[in-house]
Amino acid sequence: LSFSMFLYVNLLDSRSVMGDLGWIAYPKNGWEEIGEVDENYAPIHTYQVCKVMDQNQNNWLVTSWISNEGASRIFIELKFTLRDCNSLPGGLGTCKETFNVYYFQSNEKDGRNIRENQYVKIDTIAADESFTELDLGDRVMKLNTEVRDVGPLTKKGFYLAFQDVGACIALVSVRVYYKKCTSVVRNLALFPDTITGADSSQLLEVSGKCVNYSVTDESPKMHCSAEGEWLVPIGKCMCQEGYEEKNNTCQPCRPGFFKSSPQSLTCNKCPPHSFAQEEGSTSCVCEEHYYRRETDPYIMACTRPPSAPRNAISNINETSVFLEWMFPADTGGRKDVLYNIVCKKCNNLSGLCEECGIHVRYFPQQSGLKNTSVMVIDLEAHTNYTFEIEAENGVSEMKMGSRRFVSVNVTTNQAAPSPISIVKKGKITKNSISLSWHEPDRPNGIILEYEIKYFEKDQETSYTIIKSKETDITAEGLKPASSYIFQIRARTAAGYGAFSRRFEFETSPVSFAATGDQSQIPIIAVSVTVGVILLAGVVGFLLSGRDRCHLMVDYFYGFNCIHPMLMRCGYSKAKQDPEEEKMHFHNGHIKLPGIKTYIDPHTYEDPSQAVHEFAKEIDASCITIERVIGAGEFGEVCSGRTKLPTKREFNVAIKTLKVGYTDKQRRDFLGEASIMGQFDHPNIIHLEGVVTKSKPVMIVTEYMENGSLDTFLKKNDGQFTVIQLVGMLRGIASGMKYLSDMGYVHRDLAARNILINSNLVCKVSDFGLSRVLEDDPEAAYTTRGGKIPIRWTAPEAIAFRKFTSASDVWSYGIVMWEVMSYGERPYWEMTNQDVIKAVEEGYRLPSPMDCPAALYQLMLDCWQKDRNSRPKFEEIVSMLDKLIRNPSSLKTLVNASNRVSNLLVEHSPSGNGAYRSVNEWLEGIKMARYTDTFVENGFSSMDAVTQMTLDDLRRFGVTLAGHQKKIMNSIQEIRAQLLNGMVPL
Ligand code: AMP
Repeated sequence: LSFSMFLYVNLLDSRSVMGDLGWIAYPKNGWEEIGEVDENYAPIHTYQVCKVMDQNQNNWLVTSWISNEGASRIFIELKFTLRDCNSLPGGLGTCKETFNVYYFQSNEKDGRNIRENQYVKIDTIAADESFTELDLGDRVMKLNTEVRDVGPLTKKGFYLAFQDVGACIALVSVRVYYKKCTSVVRNLALFPDTITGADSSQLLEVSGKCVNYSVTDESPKMHCSAEGEWLVPIGKCMCQEGYEEKNNTCQPCRPGFFKSSPQSLTCNKCPPHSFAQEEGSTSCVCEEHYYRRETDPYIMACTRPPSAPRNAISNINETSVFLEWMFPADTGGRKDVLYNIVCKKCNNLSGLCEECGIHVRYFPQQSGLKNTSVMVIDLEAHTNYTFEIEAENGVSEMKMGSRRFVSVNVTTNQAAPSPISIVKKGKITKNSISLSWHEPDRPNGIILEYEIKYFEKDQETSYTIIKSKETDITAEGLKPASSYIFQIRARTAAGYGAFSRRFEFETSPVSFAATGDQSQIPIIAVSVTVGVILLAGVVGFLLSGRDRCHLMVDYFYGFNCIHPMLMRCGYSKAKQDPEEEKMHFHNGHIKLPGIKTYIDPHTYEDPSQAVHEFAKEIDASCITIERVIGAGEFGEVCSGRTKLPTKREFNVAIKTLKVGYTDKQRRDFLGEASIMGQFDHPNIIHLEGVVTKSKPVMIVTEYMENGSLDTFLKKNDGQFTVIQLVGMLRGIASGMKYLSDMGYVHRDLAARNILINSNLVCKVSDFGLSRVLEDDPEAAYTTRGGKIPIRWTAPEAIAFRKFTSASDVWSYGIVMWEVMSYGERPYWEMTNQDVIKAVEEGYRLPSPMDCPAALYQLMLDCWQKDRNSRPKFEEIVSMLDKLIRNPSSLKTLVNASNRVSNLLVEHSPSGNGAYRSVNEWLEGIKMARYTDTFVENGFSSMDAVTQMTLDDLRRFGVTLAGHQKKIMNSIQEIRAQLLNGMVPL
């Protein structure tokens, strides 16, 4: 890279000197000046010498002092003519064709009197062209030009000297000069005039200076060569903010333009929604209502907050809400639109809303959402919420009060409680661990009970479940110095919540220096029961420590209230809180306490011996009767309270044997206790004991607050969720599995023989003996003389008294049907004979209304003609468990038309399929209370009824959703039957 900006600076130019040159020649007859003028009458200082004929010539011409002006290398340009010696006649011997040039440095002007030998020779100069006389005659001047350079110069000036040694020369012009790199603006940097270096190969580094309104990050440099050329520019300057380069200068940006950084080359037009009024603007100002973030580049348009999101929709699943919306119509000109969710919980009545609080969780997050959807979970059940979905972008915060949102109102559904998170250990002994816990964060309803599952660490397949209404329990019968894992879950009307995480606690090690009262008891018990254990040795070998204790418990059942100390040994039973239920599981199945099978009290010669074998005698003084709750076959059934010495007082049901009973009646009455006493299962009614030593004779059982299941369901028609109903069925199936495992065939399984407690736990009851079925008003005498509840009984049991667990499964199917239809009477008012006939012919009950298809299928399976094809209770339990675990499997309902096509038995009250009147129809569906309303509103005929709509119902005041559903479903069914031509109206 070279720039030919060099310049010659003359130090001397003989031709331009107007006056005397002041040069000195010696000897005087040597060099002589010829006074000539050019066409402008300017003198031409020409020196000549031509002593070619004379010997030993030494003619010097010395210039005046020449200042070098700081240059350290100078150039000497000589223009001269020289005569060709050959053209000279006779002078050949001495004629020369060269001359010598010398210089002498000095700081002063008067240093000219120096000796010849002090001069330093620059060169001997010869002519490129010499001329002859002939040439002269033609007046053609052959002018030679020779240039020599000298350096480095170390003094301020010098003299030049020209020595002639016998040539014929005319020195026409002497020019002395130096070279410099001339001032230049390069890359907006100004480089000053620079005299070249002394050495011909030297490059001088020169720093540039940025021009006005420019700046630099790397200082600009260039190099000045000996030839006066600028070489190798490095670095540069840039016009500062608000200025741009024009013709090597920096000029301000025009109004409406801006330049925000030195790096940008030119000024830019202001971006949309901004302006610049002044010249030299470094940025543009946003128009009103438009903003620029600090991080926004200046070339970006000014932007504004977005408008509200659009079309928000919600999708509710229990206590979760999925919200979705569309991006705002106006994004404000920005791409960084984000969404925030504001959650407000609103009171239905007051209309007041409050913040939702920290329990509510958002996925992926609550604010700064990039996508147009969010999942909100852990809301409260049955609660109104307002969600405000707010759009914001990078400039929203710059405009106060610019919240733009769309809101969605939702009401959450019922949901199971959230998991329990805080579990604390209490007292720990070598055999027991006490725990307490906090109610779940979100109970989502009233907590009915807690279920505590525990097992020995790494023995998960064998676990125990305790149920408790309190928030503390004591797990007993544990091994010393062992780790146990506990998990707790809560249950509400909506079902069970998820189990808590696992909590691990360890029992204390065995210590012989027992400290507490409790720790001594087992030692006493062991000493008392040593004999028993020895007797039970072989069996005990197979059983766990806990089961062994059950054996002891059974032994101690013979004692009554008077033996509190010994009674305490029966910890797993005697100390069990009535509100706690305890189940043992092995590999997911309920583990039988021992390998017990049912023993028919008939096998005892003396039934009273059997009752004392299986039932504990209670002192009548421990029992307080409170009121009569029902009538049993042998006498009244009462509720009351029992205070056993080791337990706190609790509610019981007391069946009494009426006075004046016969021996057989007493035997039969206590027979039920003998059977019940053999069972120990959460879904079998639990026998507390019997009173036989005083009158009246009593059977004391746990109290079931809600009484018999059929009445309870009829009373609460349509009030439960499917999960709750399935929960009831699961309990019954589980109890039945236990009975069938024990080898006990119930024979009279029906909803009326199921009791239900306040926690909606169902328990199988009514264990008859020889009187089986005799106390059941449903039981009818068969042709063979037995008394059988026809509608509940499997065909083979009716036909040839083949009662088995498989026939119990048939009855269980009928119970399922009763439960799912809220206590509807199976086969309605059909006669027993018609039922037997229809079932024989393969007809089966139609699906109850709104019944999940999976459940109806299970019913049909229970009603298989071939009893071996029916499911086992174990299979029923696991099937129901599966449905409970996966509630969506219960969503598919048997739809109305399927129900009708299954409706193989006529079931209208008239028996011929037609309802004669609106009243009859409403009675049939247990909605008779609306008869007057219907008639008053013009729906007085069944014809009119088939035209009725849900709006009609609402209009004339049928507001209960359950009733609306029931009526509308029935109308739909009648319409479908009409279509099928089944029912003549
Ligand atoms: P039962 O003779 O067992 O059929 O009893 C007659 C009625 O008494 C039942 O239908 C129930 O309403 C009531 N009942 C029997 N046992 C209990 C109990 N343990 N808890 C509450 N009510 C009971």
